[in-house]
Amino acid sequence: MSIMKDALLKAGLKATVDAKVAAKAENHREEIKKKKLTEEIIHQGQRNFCEECQQVRPDVELYYHNNPTTEAEWICVKCADKLKLADTTRQTAQSDTSIKKMFRREHGATRPASEIKSQPTAKPKGDANGNR
Ligand SMILES: [Zn+2]
Repeated sequence: MSIMKDALLKAGLKATVDAKVAAKAENHREEIKKKKLTEEIIHQGQRNFCEECQQVRPDVELYYHNNPTTEAEWICVKCADKLKLADTTRQTAQSDTSIKKMFRREHGATRPASEIKSQPTAKPKGDANGNR
């Protein structure tokens, strides 16, 4: 009868495999994904996909942040607040929320859209305001 022996062997073998897997996992480093250059270039239109929560949101803007916990750059307000990204790192005011002037950050001050260069519709130069 070698049932016990088999069981022990199996258990021993399994333990060895588990230990190996654990050791491997310990040495595993997360691969750093490099963004493809084309990814940056292709999108010329309005972007509304948050790279952080992987959802379509009406308040996605481009952030050149230096938060090491995420590689996302197009980020919705909710995620930007969660990641505590300063609004000073925001590069765009292109979202529907910005267009409707409803864009507001919870974390820190919200930059006025006029401070941000990349807006969907460039305002004509000079005083084009007819309400005078
Ligand atoms: Zn998000």
